[in-house]
Amino acid sequence: MHTSWEKVLETVADRVSPQSYESWFKPIKCLSMTDTLCRIELPSRFFKDWFEEHSLKTLQESLAIATGRNDVAIELVIAEQNQKKSHGAAKDTRQLSLTDASEAKSPQFNTRYSFETFVVGAGNQFAHAACLAVSKSATPVYNPLFIYGGTGLGKTHLLHAVGHRALANHQPGKVCYITAEQFISDMISALQHKNMSQFKNRYRKLDYLLIDDIQFIAGKERIMEEFFHTFNALYDNHRQIVISSDKIPKDIPSLEERLRSRFECGLLADIQPPDLETKVAILRKKAEENGIQLPDDVAFFIAESVKSNIRELEGLLSRIGFYESLHGTAITLELARNVLGVTIGDRPKMVTVDAIKQEVAAEFGMKPNDLRSKRRVKSIVLPRHIAIYVTRKLSDLSLSFIGQEFGGKDHTTVINSIRKAEKLMADDPSMLARVESIIRRLS
Ligand code: ADP
Ligand code: MG
Repeated sequence: MHTSWEKVLETVADRVSPQSYESWFKPIKCLSMTDTLCRIELPSRFFKDWFEEHSLKTLQESLAIATGRNDVAIELVIAEQNQKKSHGAAKDTRQLSLTDASEAKSPQFNTRYSFETFVVGAGNQFAHAACLAVSKSATPVYNPLFIYGGTGLGKTHLLHAVGHRALANHQPGKVCYITAEQFISDMISALQHKNMSQFKNRYRKLDYLLIDDIQFIAGKERIMEEFFHTFNALYDNHRQIVISSDKIPKDIPSLEERLRSRFECGLLADIQPPDLETKVAILRKKAEENGIQLPDDVAFFIAESVKSNIRELEGLLSRIGFYESLHGTAITLELARNVLGVTIGDRPKMVTVDAIKQEVAAEFGMKPNDLRSKRRVKSIVLPRHIAIYVTRKLSDLSLSFIGQEFGGKDHTTVINSIRKAEKLMADDPSMLARVESIIRRLS
């Protein structure tokens, strides 16, 4: 029996942000799916161009994971051409797509992440006010605005909110939201395809650059250098830069000194974990948005169960919502305890790749940097398999990103490494124990 398209989509959903899932995977129609071929229909040529460049890899990886095989081919069909195969029409579409494509470099803002849906509390009011200020002003007030705080505290939400507001006064192509991860892979692909000047121009003509999770560029010399120039070009032209990070610049390891001082020259705004009242307010707001009935005691129960991560709060709320839609009744405190009881407290923590490299290197008596190298000696290869396995288990980084971190491997090689690590552990209980202890030390 072969895997269903739904299963593939589930795997995709685990690996991409909800907004990219909505924009780039939901609209796809599966035409047929066999053990060797997956035929999918994309709404337009423009969509296909974009998809091939940005999302096809994720789909290939997800297909490999969902089916357990690396050799399923993907055929992309364009809906318009599928319906009317006229040559003239196809030509039109292509011309149209050229204008669209440059605009498409503008962000796909998530409409759910706006100032209207953001609940302000003691921990985030400073960052919120700073974001409001930069989104309104024609010339930068604080440049850059550097927002930092732990996972799931609303950094991405605020960056999108700035983007929405900025779009009211600026052309779509002039406001760009991008994750550092995407910036890195765009740059790598620009280097590979020798179109760096196009890459540079794309960023340097912006009015707003909103870059998320900047900590990922740390330690990557070439990327840091390019970002430094992009930053300066925008800064010198009085264009607004908003940066988010999980840490304050001085605490980001391996960040170039000159970048660190640039990041610190504007306004640093931290986001602190929400207090209980803010968590309850957020839950109420989200419940209302999603038509979920949430009694007060249940709201407090959920708020108290989650330490700080608002994404976790939302996760628990959707379980409540799912329960309600299944049974058609509002949930009670007792039911909430049952429905949520298993989940609370046993979620793995997110860790950084650097921390993983350090632990694995320490365990195997080697230098963390050896794990990055492409060398194929056994003393490095084996720990590298383990490090890749651990990274996959403890983080939500994409396979290709993990590959770059460990000697520039592609996603299939990463999948193979994970399989090899699993086999090593299955064959050798002492290896299993070592890996478990690495994971324990990181968690
Ligand atoms: P981060 O980027 O800091 O990891 P996100 O911005 O992705 O966190 O936030 C995680 C989830 O929590 C998102 O769905 C976001 O909408 C929600 N969220 C975070 N802070 C707030 C807030 N103050 N009000 C409403 N929703 C919030
Ligand atoms: Mg984020």
